[in-house]
Amino acid sequence: MNDKESLFGKTLEELQAIAIQEGLPKFTGKQLTDWLYKKDIGSIAEMSNLSKDARSKLAEKYELGLTQHSKVSESKDGTKKYLFPAGDGKFIEAAYIPETERATLCVSSQVGCKMGCLFCATGKQGFQGQLSSNQILNQIRSLPEKEKLTNIVFMGMGEPFDNLESVLKAVQILTEPWGFEMAPRRVTVSTIGIVPGMKRFLEESKAHLAVSLHSPFEEERKKIMPIESVYSLPQVMQAIKETEWGRQRRVSFEYIMFKGFNDQAHHVNALVKLLHGIKGRINLLRFHPIPGTPLESSDDKTIEWFRDSLKEKGITTTIRTSRGQDIEAACGLLSTKELVKRKQENDF
Ligand code: SF4
Repeated sequence: MNDKESLFGKTLEELQAIAIQEGLPKFTGKQLTDWLYKKDIGSIAEMSNLSKDARSKLAEKYELGLTQHSKVSESKDGTKKYLFPAGDGKFIEAAYIPETERATLCVSSQVGCKMGCLFCATGKQGFQGQLSSNQILNQIRSLPEKEKLTNIVFMGMGEPFDNLESVLKAVQILTEPWGFEMAPRRVTVSTIGIVPGMKRFLEESKAHLAVSLHSPFEEERKKIMPIESVYSLPQVMQAIKETEWGRQRRVSFEYIMFKGFNDQAHHVNALVKLLHGIKGRINLLRFHPIPGTPLESSDDKTIEWFRDSLKEKGITTTIRTSRGQDIEAACGLLSTKELVKRKQENDF
């Protein structure tokens, strides 16, 4: 059994503390961050600017802690869905979405999810565990296309602010100069509106925020998103209004279009009211039906009308193109349940 601790996924501060604990100079911590986040190595032995003695000391207790994907599915539109082992026979998924001018990776923050949104395959799977910062960042570091990545979105399996410490740490490592050094505007964390987590994220990082709205009305939202009973829409909007938004930082609102549910004129008017005083945009999404839900997607004509109506009232609105639907990598479709079942069947 391997009981060594992973170095990958630790902050500069933590790595400096490890160095000191092992009787090495504090600056070894900085050297470690270079090897972990800026170079492409596969073992501690390859850290050539560390003495042999330092490397063997570290290797006694630690390992890099990188995990390769165990399966990949490719969509006809070029989107790829990677399956990564998450320990104890569990799996998580990351969706790689190449476009003309950018390449985005949609990462998971939990194994499954406990939030139970009615329209979501991950929600149906239930909650199976938290991911560490190592496991979140490994989806990026172990991605074969990692060099091409321009954007990271936390929109895969799980509610990021229900795993706050690991997500904040992962965002810190992604954006710090000693880490992956990504521009904060290239990282977006998406939430259904866990207000305390959202507030800490807004205070402690500069990354973008995406809020899943799906209805401007509390009672209606409650029907598809149980979180509304805990943190209501007015509380979510209040937290957004109280935030000092820098020039670079942005908030966007995700809005899945459900036929006859949230796609009418009174929704347009209520959304305009709700977003009053907020410099944010709305992304409209088609719904990809999942088994066991009564919800259907609005048709293209209605979605276009909805977008135009919002735009006419001064709200920047876009229709997000669906990607990877044929491999179930599109929004709300990530669920490893079937894959785990299939794996188990194959194992016996
Ligand atoms: S939409 Fe997000 S928060 Fe809701 S169940 Fe799915 S993964 Fe969880």
